[in-house]
Amino acid sequence: MGRAIINNQDCDFAPRETILDASRRLGIEIPGLCYDERLKPFGGCRLCIVEVEGTNRLDAACTTLLEDGMIIHTHSGQVESQRRGLLRILAHSCAEPDTPQWELPFYRYLRTYGLEDELNPDHDPRLLDDSHPYIRVDMSQCIHCNRCVAICDQVQGQHVWKVWFRGHATRVRPDSGDSLLASSCVSCGACADTCPSGAISDRTLYTSPPSSGAVWTKTTCPYCGVGCQLNAGVANGRIAQIRPVLDDPVSNGHLCVKGRYAFDFVTSPDRITSPMIREDGQWRSVSWDEAIDYAASRLKASIEKNGPDSVGILGSARATNEDNYITQKFARVVVGTNNVDCCARVCHTPSAAALKSMLGTGAATNSFNDIEKTSTILVCGANSTENHPIVGARIKQAALRGCKLIVIDPRRIELADYASVHLQLKPGTNVPLLNAMAQTIISENIFDAEFLRHRVTSFDELKHFLGTYTPEAASEICGVDADLIRKAARLYASNGPAMMVHGLGVTEHIQGVEGVMCLTNLALLTGNLGKPGTGVNPLRGQNNVQGAAQMGCDPGILTGSVSIGDAFSRFSKVWLAPLPRKAGLNLMQMMDRAIEGKLKALWAIGYDIALTNPHRDETVRALRSLDLLIVQDMFLNETAKELGTVFFPVACGFERDGTFMNGERRIQRIRRIVDAPGQVRQDWEVIARMAEVLGHGHQFNYRSPSNIWDEIRTVWPDAAGINYARLENQGLQWPCVNETDPGTEILHRDVFASGQKAALRSVTYRRTTESSNDEFPFVLITGRVLEQFNAGTMTLRTPNTILHPFDYLDISPEDAAELGIRDRSRVRVVSRHGAATLPARVCKSMRRGELFASFHMPDARLNNVTGSGRDRFVDTPEYKVTAVRVEQTDRDP
Ligand code: SF4
Repeated sequence: MGRAIINNQDCDFAPRETILDASRRLGIEIPGLCYDERLKPFGGCRLCIVEVEGTNRLDAACTTLLEDGMIIHTHSGQVESQRRGLLRILAHSCAEPDTPQWELPFYRYLRTYGLEDELNPDHDPRLLDDSHPYIRVDMSQCIHCNRCVAICDQVQGQHVWKVWFRGHATRVRPDSGDSLLASSCVSCGACADTCPSGAISDRTLYTSPPSSGAVWTKTTCPYCGVGCQLNAGVANGRIAQIRPVLDDPVSNGHLCVKGRYAFDFVTSPDRITSPMIREDGQWRSVSWDEAIDYAASRLKASIEKNGPDSVGILGSARATNEDNYITQKFARVVVGTNNVDCCARVCHTPSAAALKSMLGTGAATNSFNDIEKTSTILVCGANSTENHPIVGARIKQAALRGCKLIVIDPRRIELADYASVHLQLKPGTNVPLLNAMAQTIISENIFDAEFLRHRVTSFDELKHFLGTYTPEAASEICGVDADLIRKAARLYASNGPAMMVHGLGVTEHIQGVEGVMCLTNLALLTGNLGKPGTGVNPLRGQNNVQGAAQMGCDPGILTGSVSIGDAFSRFSKVWLAPLPRKAGLNLMQMMDRAIEGKLKALWAIGYDIALTNPHRDETVRALRSLDLLIVQDMFLNETAKELGTVFFPVACGFERDGTFMNGERRIQRIRRIVDAPGQVRQDWEVIARMAEVLGHGHQFNYRSPSNIWDEIRTVWPDAAGINYARLENQGLQWPCVNETDPGTEILHRDVFASGQKAALRSVTYRRTTESSNDEFPFVLITGRVLEQFNAGTMTLRTPNTILHPFDYLDISPEDAAELGIRDRSRVRVVSRHGAATLPARVCKSMRRGELFASFHMPDARLNNVTGSGRDRFVDTPEYKVTAVRVEQTDRDP
């Protein structure tokens, strides 16, 4: 600690505190054009100069550290005169702003210093770039603060903006040297967010009313499971602009293209605004009373005729915790069945199952903040720069700072360019590869003996079991050089702390659960659990997929991930009803039973089964076999379009209150910032009303989402300390057992949730049945891309489709040449299960014999092609491995 005086105020300061930071703490505003708290200060604009008594110079406050005894004047006559001079020079070389930008810092300073009339009014039309659907560039207004360059380098790690030429000719331009759309821009909007002059700005400022007239509210991104906080500006009842929240511990003040810009779906003209019933094959709009009475009477009839287990209900990763809680309560209390599930089944149920069975808690062990604390990150089967972009950007920045990266992925994903080791394995061979890493760690004695002694069992069994899983043996199966496997194992074990993140490249296989177990073995062997910078961390795909499952939308568990047997009396007491004890069906089993004629009714909330489930023919056959299919969504999705009986239109994430749970167990508020259109209702209101009509109103007598949350706290001890008031500013990570508990950033610090010691698992490798042969010589991997979100319900209705207009089939240049396939020409991809037609994209990141495609577009119907393979334990579909062939078609896209 030291003491200085700033503008006659005493100022105690911490080591390495700058004059700017201390002044802000004291409430003194020092102007600055190149400063942004997300960036390393570099003192470039010289506007934050201050006078330090006893020196003959003016120092930049953003880069000058406080020293004991300093006496500082931030607004002396000399300082202010120099600032005015600097601003006058900038005003002379900068065009007059467009109206929406008048509140930006540069113009605010000009007004403060009485220089607004000195702006040079000439716009150079050659410097206007209107190519990008979200970001407008007008370099006539550039003041060369270079914040766009710095934020693209230091936060996003994309290095798009460059300073071109020298002297008077100096220009900031994208790396294309031409338009932003043609550049390597990933449309995160960080440059527009930081630009103080409006040279780079959001287009919405021109298409919607200016943000100065907007009301700003903090909420949570409705897209991926990273769970970034957003500041949403609403004007005239519409979202005008979204900006990042600077002190958000998840995003660190950054957003991706979806969170920042993809909100036009809210006002899409094809929103369904009244309930509908299908009659004679046609949809008819009806009142809510009629729709609910109809659906409830059909549901009741099905239960009376076929029993409660003839009904299935699906919760939604896009809905709130509160919505999902009452969804599964409805299934158990009103219908009397455990047939309830959600889309975690098709993504991370294997992670939850493996982590729960080995460590006692089926969720990420650590937090995103551990990315900055670790020395090595193992990224397995997760293309995080596309699918979890803010985590991906944080990993990139960690790598740029010297953190070692190990990437395990069949494709050369972006993070592979930053990796020390890229294990480019064959799809479906995670288990032998991870076993070989464990074998190396054991055979080379680079395990953590102390940790093993106190926290781990079954070491000898695993050691014996892994005898045959040598890197050489794994190499034969995985196609990865044995020495590379050893190198990765040594790096992970020796350069700690080491953390791992994994994605659907681990879970969407017939050995999904076992793949996560193998990852957990590595963490246990090396003591990389229960400490900062360590852990096993599944990256969740959808905003609330973790929450949907945690709330009990799972046939085998209740809220808080407890088994029905363990918590029967606790829940029965609160729910005023006994619980069904018969094992429930998961989503995939529901499809099987529907085909067998045993499942008669299904209520699908926020889930487009027909578009996303694999083996589309079978899925459609299952859905056609139902007597009643209730679909609840914002839009008439593919499931509803073809097969729905009743449609309930519900609010989107910006039109409702409640909470989401992100991939690091953080519960965060979402807030209603705009009104839902027409007769659209909240999910929980629809479910509660259905319960009331079916005679259970007393058990669903909720007034608001917070009311539901308070019930959740009573049945889930690990969330007992979380209430809406505590979530007002920032989220809390469970376990959080009482109202003074700050929440839990790191699980399993001293003991595992399952006990003092965790057991290593010996996992035998099993080959997928989706093997390639002469007829189907390629392996198709499916997944998502940056601009798309899952089944397209939201992103298809935004300008993201300009940035990424198709589902492409990515193919290696060698295979494309051999088959005579041109880039962007249309091809037919055929499997044992079906076919789809889509444009090919020739990509160097693909290896020979492997293909990749997303499944976002209803037209492409890629899930015609994916097969019926499932995880051995939890039925998660094998989306990542399908044997296919590729045929040319004669049509261009
Ligand atoms: Fe939203 Fe995920 Fe992007 Fe964050 S990373 S802005 S949560 S989509």
